[in-house]
Amino acid sequence: MSALEVSIDYDAITHNVEVLRGMAEGAAVMAVVKADAYGHGLLPAAAAARAGGAAWLGVAQPGEALALRAGGDTGRIFTWLFGTEVPARALIAADVDMSVSSPEVLGAVIAAARDLTRPARIHLAVDTGLGREGVTLHDLPGLLDLAIAAQAEGLVRLVGAWSHLAWADQPGHETIDLQADTFRSALMLIGERGIELEVRHLANSACTLTRPELHFDLVRPGIALYGLPPIEDPAGAAFGLRPAMAVRSTVVLVKDVPAGQGVSYAHQYVTPFPTTLGLISAGYADGVFRAAGNRAEVEIRGRRYTIAGRVCMDQFVVDLGPATEVREGDVATLIGPDGPTATDWAEAADTINYEVVCRFGGLRPKESA
Ligand SMILES: *Cc1c(COP(=O)(O)O)cnc(C)c1O
Repeated sequence: MSALEVSIDYDAITHNVEVLRGMAEGAAVMAVVKADAYGHGLLPAAAAARAGGAAWLGVAQPGEALALRAGGDTGRIFTWLFGTEVPARALIAADVDMSVSSPEVLGAVIAAARDLTRPARIHLAVDTGLGREGVTLHDLPGLLDLAIAAQAEGLVRLVGAWSHLAWADQPGHETIDLQADTFRSALMLIGERGIELEVRHLANSACTLTRPELHFDLVRPGIALYGLPPIEDPAGAAFGLRPAMAVRSTVVLVKDVPAGQGVSYAHQYVTPFPTTLGLISAGYADGVFRAAGNRAEVEIRGRRYTIAGRVCMDQFVVDLGPATEVREGDVATLIGPDGPTATDWAEAADTINYEVVCRFGGLRPKESA
């Protein structure tokens, strides 16, 4: 191993889905595997989630839904992020459930269903306050009229309604209840028109973990599948989730330097005493946040070291201290079961653990998987 190695414990994903299923009680689990499963690998992560009992898979991009089918997945799949350019024919043919956010998108879906003479399964997206996907409650009746008319023609099957929360990671936030109320109003409107939905869904990971009364029929956890809690577990046990991603590199150079040695670009770290520096083969081209210079830690031989100075494109330096036992070729764990967590990196780089795993998992090809 000479550069960055990202490895995924797929059994952890299976375990985490089992944990989430336990928390969801009556509700089914849609495993959100968008963005290459948050950098964990779309197909193997999806298979691991199915093994844990995920009845549904959720992806933002239609192309990811089609990739899941092409990869052999035969279960329910939901996709939600597209405009009128949506490959609706391919999605209907592949038996993928589609979100509908506007009359225009519904029109595209209906046209494709007419061509194929096969109904599309649709879930109405309701913007209950996130200001993102979906129709507002105000515009819902108009969309509903169109959907009901298309259903009467056999062109769509209205199977679901869904929304997404803005502040789920603050479980007591007032907007959660406001959004839930708006969602219930939307469900009432739909129910009043005689539509019986198969699935109503609102909860992301944080809501799944903290607000059981808002699970409805289906929960949509993403980050928690990968073992990363979106919020602190009050019990300090990470909700029993196991992180799936480990990120390791290698110490490629170990050398003694005197006190006062500036380290890396612009000498943002200066050795306080005669010491030994270690050079690690991983940089911002691999996903190591440049903002984490002088802040994030790595683990080598059971000890934590803070990055010394700036992170470079392919490398960074740590101060190993005098009399170190670290040698060239030693493994440096950036993220691992015993090393720092993605959440630690997020704190060091002023971001969220979601972005950490997406970057490490998603940047340039790795030496091995
Ligand atoms: C990403 C996403 C999720 C999963 O969110 P997490 O916070 O990762 O659990 C669920 N639903 C939608 C619509 C999303 O975009």
